[in-house]
Amino acid sequence: MRIHDLLLRATVRSPDAPAVLVDGATVTFAELSDRVDRLARAVAAVTAPGDRIAFLSENTLPFVDAYYAVPRAGRVLVPLNYRLHPSEWADQIARTRATTLIGETALVEALRPRLDGSTVRTVVTIDGPDPTYDAFTADPPMVDLPDPTDADLAWVLFTSGTTGTPKGALLTHRAMVAAATNTALGRPVAPDDVYLLAFALCHVAGYNLLIMHMHARPVVLVRRFDPDEFIALTLAHRVSNTSLAPTMVSALLEHPDATPSALASLRQIAYGSAAVPAEVLRRAMERWECDFAQGYGMTELGGNAVFLGAAEHRRGVADEPHLLHAAGRPGPLAAVRIVDAEAVDLIDLPIGTTGEIAVHGPQVFAGYWEDPEATAATLVDGWLRTGDLGRLDTEGLLTIVDRKKDIIVSGGENVASREVEEVLHRHPGVLEVAVVGVPDDHWGEVVCAAVVTRPGVPIDAEQVIDVSRQHLASYKKPRHVVFVESLPRNTSGKVMKHVLREQVAELLGAP
Ligand code: AMP
Repeated sequence: MRIHDLLLRATVRSPDAPAVLVDGATVTFAELSDRVDRLARAVAAVTAPGDRIAFLSENTLPFVDAYYAVPRAGRVLVPLNYRLHPSEWADQIARTRATTLIGETALVEALRPRLDGSTVRTVVTIDGPDPTYDAFTADPPMVDLPDPTDADLAWVLFTSGTTGTPKGALLTHRAMVAAATNTALGRPVAPDDVYLLAFALCHVAGYNLLIMHMHARPVVLVRRFDPDEFIALTLAHRVSNTSLAPTMVSALLEHPDATPSALASLRQIAYGSAAVPAEVLRRAMERWECDFAQGYGMTELGGNAVFLGAAEHRRGVADEPHLLHAAGRPGPLAAVRIVDAEAVDLIDLPIGTTGEIAVHGPQVFAGYWEDPEATAATLVDGWLRTGDLGRLDTEGLLTIVDRKKDIIVSGGENVASREVEEVLHRHPGVLEVAVVGVPDDHWGEVVCAAVVTRPGVPIDAEQVIDVSRQHLASYKKPRHVVFVESLPRNTSGKVMKHVLREQVAELLGAP
């Protein structure tokens, strides 16, 4: 099964049902299929099979077209993250040798000076006073489209690069369809669901589009997450489901209009892409009476592979608090192991021991674009080494401890940044917090907490350290506390800890 087969089948079943609700317009499955067919032929007319097509925009209808059309045409979609710098877009275009660029006029213009001498031959703009997209797709030639197999490459999706330079993850049709299927099995879709896509289509979480379309259900598209718009669209379209990054949950919790009655149509909020502190989760569950579900996944998995369902959330709030710290169980198409993080081979660790999370299944990516070394280090015997540390318990529940690269080694002891963050969140004055290691002559590294305070709740560094003292071993307590206006986050709401480390070093006056 290929990505575009999902759309085709939904169109056969429900041609007149809404597929995408965007900018006040409704696009049916039949209309979307027609758009996809025209874009596929337009792209095929100016490129060769296997060519890379870069796409640069926020969440827009043409992006949805390209989601299906480029793989349908046997070409490879390279979604560029609109939040990056033009030099980073240029780098990803150069690395993938993309021959076509489709995008928003302002972004394309910012990039254009860097396109001289690049492989890009065709540029198509989707908006502005003089968009060329409509003309490009209006009446494309009746070219023969190749018939890709499910093992063919559909996407090169760059990782968010929170721990280094982004790498291009190779996602085949099969991996994308498997990721969508695994999620639909792990977190079922109801026959009357209306889904609001709050994540960016250029992030792997955009695959929620496939999950909903697989069930011929509509997706409400927002250009980019904004709490006011989220609330208004939820009311207007009676949205039943959505997925949110932890920061989006927090932003809605702080929003006076995100009342239970305003969001009454929501039956389920799925969250993921980073850990949601248990305190935030508790408050969200108290505030909105819908189900909560967690997903754990990554770009290299085409989406989520591990799920914590609504029932476990309810048990977590009732009397099993450990469940609120867990990521869940693998969906039926995935398997999870905990292996020795330091060993090159996959060596299993006993239940309850923390090690590197490895995932197996049809959604695992095919490697990194032109990077055999990184591929060999990440794909071992068909298993994906995630770079995340976690543990499994006797019930098969996975708990994420931290990213391997975010572990702080202080005086020879490992400190998981996430554990400290969880605890600091218990102070009402802490709105957001991220913990990183800073170099220290004596201890090697010490814990530093960067805190965004909640307006109107005074808190000083000593109080932050005190919270930690009450709940954690002494070596885990922050030696430094810095107060910041905001944390550096990427499009999917993750704190970019490499950027934060630099900011903290500057604030602490490091040489
Ligand atoms: P990305 O490839 O940008 O989606 O980032 C994937 C990474 O996000 C994973 O390797 C984890 O470190 C983190 N992540 C994703 N989902 C969760 C989750 N539910 N809980 C904690 N961390 C998560």
